[in-house]
Amino acid sequence: MLKQLIEQNWVEIKKNIKKDNSLTDIAYNIWIDPLTFNDYSDNVLTILIPNKEVNPEIQLDYIKNHYTNCFQDALFSLFGENIEVQFILADPKPHETVKEEIIPINNENSSSSLNPKYRFENFIIAGNNNVAHSASLHVAESPGTEFNPLFIYGGSGLGKTHLMTAIGHYIIENSNKKVLYVTSEQFTNEVIESIRVGESGSSVSSPMTKLREKYRNVDVLLIDDIQFIIGKKTTQEEFFHTFNTLIDSGKAIVMTSDKHPSLMKDLDDRYRSRFISGLPVDIQPPSYETRVAILRNYADNLGSTISDEIIDYIAKNIRSNVRELEGAFNQVYAKTKLDPASGSIDIETAKEILKDTISPDRSTMVTPQLILESVSSYYGVSTDDIISKKRNADIVLPRQIFMYLCREMTDMTLINIATILEKKDHSTVLHGIKKIEDDIKMDPKLGETIDLIKSNITSP
Ligand code: ADP
Ligand code: MG
Repeated sequence: MLKQLIEQNWVEIKKNIKKDNSLTDIAYNIWIDPLTFNDYSDNVLTILIPNKEVNPEIQLDYIKNHYTNCFQDALFSLFGENIEVQFILADPKPHETVKEEIIPINNENSSSSLNPKYRFENFIIAGNNNVAHSASLHVAESPGTEFNPLFIYGGSGLGKTHLMTAIGHYIIENSNKKVLYVTSEQFTNEVIESIRVGESGSSVSSPMTKLREKYRNVDVLLIDDIQFIIGKKTTQEEFFHTFNTLIDSGKAIVMTSDKHPSLMKDLDDRYRSRFISGLPVDIQPPSYETRVAILRNYADNLGSTISDEIIDYIAKNIRSNVRELEGAFNQVYAKTKLDPASGSIDIETAKEILKDTISPDRSTMVTPQLILESVSSYYGVSTDDIISKKRNADIVLPRQIFMYLCREMTDMTLINIATILEKKDHSTVLHGIKKIEDDIKMDPKLGETIDLIKSNITSP
C-alpha cells in the first residue's frame, strides 16, 4: 500500500522537499524535478535519475550526497515511516524512432506535452532574441489575431523550443483555449500511422479523418522543427491542409525551424509566402555579453560561487548554442558541488572538466544559414533584409558578402545561391561575387572584415 501511496504522491513529495529545504526554482528544476519513482519494496524506495549522458556519475553522486536525507525526511513527515532511499541511473536513451500513439481527439489537457521548464519567466531577453521574444509574448497574449503564423527560426540550441513552449504555457494558464504542441517527427509518425491503419482497418470513421479532426479542432497549434516535414510529400500535404484550415478560421499557428522559409528549397512557393505572411522572426546566436548574462543567471539562481574567470572562459569558448552553454555550466557546477572545497574551483580544474566539451579544433559545418547569420550579426542588418530584394546600399554589401562566402566556404553552386536569394538567374550572384573579389583587391580593410566574418563562422 505504501508503494501506491508514494507513487501517487510523487510530485507532492518532491514539492515538499523544495519547500522544506528552501530550494530555488532552478535547483529544483535541475536536480529534483526530473527524478521519477522507480520502485518500493521492503522499506526501500528506489528513485530513477534520468541519464542525460553528461557526467551521469557526477549527477548520481551529487544527488545521493545532497538529497537522500531530504527524501527520507519528506517521506517520514508524510507517511510516518523511516524509509531507506536509493538512487539509480536510468539507461541512456536510445536515439528515438518512436512510433507515436495517436492521441485521442478532444485531448483536453495538452500542457502535459509541454516541457515545464520552458517558460517566459526564465527566458533571458537580449539583443539576439528580443524581437522573437516580444512577438512570442504578443501571440501568447492574443493568439490568432496578429503575427499568424509566427515563424521562429534560427540555429540549434538558441531557444526556439523554449519560446514556443512558453507561449503554450501562457495560453493554457490564461485562457481556456485548446493548445496542441507537436514535433514534426510526431506529426509525421501520426500521418504514417493513420495511413497504415487506414489501409488495414475498416472502421467507419477513418484514422485519417480522426487525425484531421484532432488537428483542426485546436485553437493554437505549436509545431516544432517544421523543416523535417518539408519535402515529405504526404505529410506536408496533410500539414498544409491543417495549416490552411486553422489560419483561415483565425486559429493561431506557431512554427519553429532551423532556417528561414526562403532557405527551404523543397518548400512550394505558395506556402513559402504563406509562412512568411505572418511574422518570421529569427533568434541569433547570443553575443558574448548575453552568454555571460545567461551563465551569471544560472550561477546566481543556484547560489553558486563559480568565478567570473570561469564564466568568461565558458562564454568565450561556447558561442553559438545556449544548450551547450548550459551543459558546460552544469558540468562545472556539479563538480563544485561535489568537491569539499566547493566554490574554490580554479580555472585549470574547470578547463580540465570541460576538455571534451571545449576543444580548440572543434570544427563547424559551414551552412548557408550560418553564413547568413554571421554576416547579419556583423553588419547589424536582419537576415530577412539580406535575402530580400531591397536595394539600399547598406544591405547590398552584406548581401554580396553573403554570396561571396557561400561560394568560398561551401560547395554550393551559383544556382543554389541564387535560389536562396530568390533570384531568377544566377548572373546577379556572379556579379556580386566578382564585385567583392575586385573590391578586396582595392580595399584591404574589406579583406580583413571578410576574414573576421569567416573566423566567426568557423569558430563560433
Ligand atoms: P532550440 O529549440 O532553438 O534548439 P531550445 O529552446 O531547446 O533550443 O534551447 C536550448 C536550451 O537553452 C534550453 O535548455 C533553453 O532553456 C536554453 N535557452 C536558450 N535560450 C535561452 C534564453 N534566452 N534564456 C534562458 N535559457 C535559454
Ligand atoms: Mg528545438
